[in-house]
Amino acid sequence: MRLIKQIKLLSKIIKHNIHYYTGKFVYPYRVEITSTYLCNSKCKICHIWKYYQNKNNNISQELNLNELTKTFKNINKNLFYLAIGGGEPTLRNDLIQIIKSVTKNCPNLLYISMGINGLQTKDTVLKIRQILKELPKSIDLKLTISIDGPKQVHNIMRGINDSFTRSNATFNQLKKFETKYRNFSVTKELTICDENINELKNIDKYKDYIITFQNDSKFYMVDNNKKTGINKKLQYKITSQLIKNKNKFGIINLITNDFLKKSLLFQKNKLNIKCYSGRSTIFIDPIGNVYSCINQKVKFGNIKDNKYDIKKVLKKSNDKLVILNKCKDCWTPCEAYTTIIQNKVMLK
Ligand code: SF4
Ligand code: SF4
Repeated sequence: MRLIKQIKLLSKIIKHNIHYYTGKFVYPYRVEITSTYLCNSKCKICHIWKYYQNKNNNISQELNLNELTKTFKNINKNLFYLAIGGGEPTLRNDLIQIIKSVTKNCPNLLYISMGINGLQTKDTVLKIRQILKELPKSIDLKLTISIDGPKQVHNIMRGINDSFTRSNATFNQLKKFETKYRNFSVTKELTICDENINELKNIDKYKDYIITFQNDSKFYMVDNNKKTGINKKLQYKITSQLIKNKNKFGIINLITNDFLKKSLLFQKNKLNIKCYSGRSTIFIDPIGNVYSCINQKVKFGNIKDNKYDIKKVLKKSNDKLVILNKCKDCWTPCEAYTTIIQNKVMLK
């Protein structure tokens, strides 16, 4: 079943490319929505949790269910992959309805991924159980829960005393759903940054985790001078270790292995690959601003000003794609996986 789904995705991407290179407008097939700026954590490497401490920011500005539904209706059969980020998505009271809406309005949807902090075990487990009950079997739900190292380190990084215990409890309870729902998986995700780098000398302990390096995107609202100091040499060493531990079989491993190999090139400033953000993928922030990627390299416009139609937003911005053609500013999994797939199934 998984293989069939992966083949389906590849064939859809090939069709997407044919349309793209014959000059037709193509909707991005992967959309990341950041569902909210609300967050119940107090992370050191991301300050989204402070967003509503600023009195000028008002939650009523966030895209509501009705507005998201209009967006999904417009993108319709063109959407294959929805990534839901935040803030903390489980704090949205209408999360179940948002997922219902996208599955109803986007008939070609194959994957939904969502990154959560797992701090509210009971509420999160209830919501995910309800989502899984109603989720069509043709759609995979992939969850990641942030765990950034051993207990003490994780709690300091997250700024909450019992964060490790709570997030692990959520992970353990959700893990049980994998047996009943074959279209569901949950994985721990570890972000490497200054605060935990020394704890990760033995990275082998984390081989079941998704490992990423801290992203300095301004979306995370961290003060410029508090940004990561992890140098590329250290990243290179860790990445080399990760490659040794990787399983080499299957389409997904093919992509994740390629990601790591290309990470080594990126860390040596030698990566030369065309990024497809802004064409194959886009990023929408909670108040409807449409960007090429989470790094906000290019802002295309706001979906609210364009009748909730991504096509209208993107059509006005053809000139901005030139900037993206040359951009080599990042190599993060969210964007890089799509770039790898695109480059593997390129028709030009
Ligand atoms: S990293 Fe996630 S959990 Fe932490 S403050 Fe940012 S949005 Fe919240
Ligand atoms: S290379 Fe990174 S920053 Fe540049 S457009 Fe692609 S995803 Fe965005």
